[in-house]
Amino acid sequence: MHTEKRFCRSCGQILHGRSDKKFCDDGCRNTFNNQQNSIQNKEIRNINSVLKRNRAILLAKLPEGKKQLKVSKDQLLVMGFNLRYMTHQLVLPSGLTAQFCYELGWVSLDEDCYLIVRDL
Ligand SMILES: [Zn+2]
Repeated sequence: MHTEKRFCRSCGQILHGRSDKKFCDDGCRNTFNNQQNSIQNKEIRNINSVLKRNRAILLAKLPEGKKQLKVSKDQLLVMGFNLRYMTHQLVLPSGLTAQFCYELGWVSLDEDCYLIVRDL
């Protein structure tokens, strides 16, 4: 009878025993799962840091108590703003769609100009 060799997904050693076995033991299973989690957590951390930086830039631009402010695209980009990352979108009462990073958002008015808005 031919049996295909199977290898531990964690350490790569040949597995013996049940055909649905994926790891040598609980130690290898834990190591593998921890590695998977740390890869996923790294992706989440990277994106979270972009979102936080975007929010901090919007917060720095929009003075306390002010609901909205026009800025140039360059003013945002020079501070490291990343237009690709947002948490959600909202349609404003004006009908324009704003991208948000948490409670602060931006609307493209034209190619070079953005309106920063605060979600109330
Ligand atoms: Zn193993």
